[in-house]
Amino acid sequence: MAVTKQGPSDLQWRDKYLTLNEKYDKLKLQVGTRNEQLRRGLVLVSLLAEGQSAPLDQTLADLRESMRGSTSDLNKTMNTLNGQIKEYDLSQAEHSAALAEKISLMAEKLCHCQIPKKLVSDVRALRKAAPEALNDWQGYSHQLEGWAGVLATLVALDESSDDSAKGPWWKKVFSKEKPSPDAVEEADSQSVSDDVADNDEPAEPGFSTIAREVASALNGLISRLVVPERLHQRSDELQKRLDDGLHWYEFVSVLEDTSQFLLDCLGSGQEEFERFLHSLDQRLQAIQTMVSDANSGQADREDARTSLETMVRDQIDDIRGVVNGLGDLGELGSSVRDHLTTIVRAMEHYQEVESQREARLAEQLEVLQNRLSEMEAEASQARQIIEDQKKRATLDHLTGLPNRAAYEVQLGEELMKRSRGGRSLSFIICDVDHFKHINDNYGHIAGDKVLQLIASTLRKNLRDTDFIARYGGEEFVVLLPGTQADGAAGVAEKLRASIEACPFNFRGERVSITMSFGISEFRALESTEMVFDRADKALYEAKKSGRNRAVIA
Ligand code: GH3
Ligand code: MG
Ligand code: MG
Repeated sequence: MAVTKQGPSDLQWRDKYLTLNEKYDKLKLQVGTRNEQLRRGLVLVSLLAEGQSAPLDQTLADLRESMRGSTSDLNKTMNTLNGQIKEYDLSQAEHSAALAEKISLMAEKLCHCQIPKKLVSDVRALRKAAPEALNDWQGYSHQLEGWAGVLATLVALDESSDDSAKGPWWKKVFSKEKPSPDAVEEADSQSVSDDVADNDEPAEPGFSTIAREVASALNGLISRLVVPERLHQRSDELQKRLDDGLHWYEFVSVLEDTSQFLLDCLGSGQEEFERFLHSLDQRLQAIQTMVSDANSGQADREDARTSLETMVRDQIDDIRGVVNGLGDLGELGSSVRDHLTTIVRAMEHYQEVESQREARLAEQLEVLQNRLSEMEAEASQARQIIEDQKKRATLDHLTGLPNRAAYEVQLGEELMKRSRGGRSLSFIICDVDHFKHINDNYGHIAGDKVLQLIASTLRKNLRDTDFIARYGGEEFVVLLPGTQADGAAGVAEKLRASIEACPFNFRGERVSITMSFGISEFRALESTEMVFDRADKALYEAKKSGRNRAVIA
């Protein structure tokens, strides 16, 4: 084609071409740079995405290899990657749903605890947002952030709570008081399956081992305690709970119950120890009193008292030693109790021996007292017999008047009185006249009755201070204290007249009976025989001069 003349349009096309060519070169350079950047970016992203699953990691490695210009088939790698990402997303969605359900369950339990309302609303909001939020990392992050806030609030609540009676918040979460049926079922199954290693719940398999160890330790602690009697039932119940095995939801409450039980034991131990010291004091005082009483006993109990005192002293020294040497109340209490038991047994033995001895003595005393009473009665009887015999010995059986022996005694006494007072004393001897005739004519029995009548008549006619005795046969003697011979003669006359006047009747016949009297007064330096003899002579005179008369010597 002939070009005659280059017009402006040709030039314009050339410039345009050159410009475009230059732009192309630049764009090519830019694309190359961008490709390089994309390739590096993809490698970095693939590295970031690593760690989700092993197959995915392998595919990502293949992708990075492709980026480095290897011969591997990029399309194939991209297809594999696409499939694995879909699979991963599906598994992530399932995992998120399961996690959201667990969060929902825990949140529900937490909301039933005694926690502030604000916290309840926070927990409920987090629970509500969980299913949606767990679909992406940002949501995960928000959830974690939210639950971290809840935990921080609970920890702050636990630390600031002064009311220990309410217990920590976690007790409410795990308290067995009102566990949901599901929770119990779940817990039971976990407890049973601990030993078969259910790895889905990594914390649970170790729980039963720990629970067994804890239960064994608590049981050992309780069995070593000195449990007061009133707490025995609680102790048994607690030990049974521990023996039966602990579930996770009752773990805290068992620990708290055990701790309260320990406090009660120690508290009551203190009270019991005070009561024990008080009773110890009383018992020691009683022992002291008994020992003092024993001290005031008789000498023949010395050995028993000495051994008892020694034993009591030794035991009390031991008690002091124990009290000073030991700090453990249980051991102290039982040791002191042992000593006291020994003391009390010894005291009881001592008392038993003493009471047996006293009983024997009382029996012997009673026997002696009975014997004494008998002897007193016998002695009294004997005295009475002797008195009677004495009396009988001094009395005349027929007439009842004192006999000759009594006269002798009475004469001695009267003579002594006379020698002291210097008063006079007269003596009369009386003899029945012709008494032989009475016997002969009327018999001895009649004669005896006559003698009895004579005796009573004579006695009646004398003063109380005068003394009359039957001297023998039909003879009587009279002592007249404070009476001289003349007075005695008057008395004799009175006696004579009274006998003479006596109405003696024999076989309906009156018989006259008379008596003769001889009178003598005791003179100084004269013996009784001389006085008697003078009176007897005077009697003889009376007989001789006709009888029925009195003659003074
Ligand atoms: P006389 O006047 O001289 O005294 O004469 P008498 O008969 O009384 O004296 P005698 O001495 O001869 O007799 C005393 C009698 O008294 C003799 C005796 O039998 C009697 N006689 C003595 N004692 C008792 C007695 O207890 N009972 C009785 N029935 N007679 C007695
Ligand atoms: Mg005579
Ligand atoms: Mg005579």
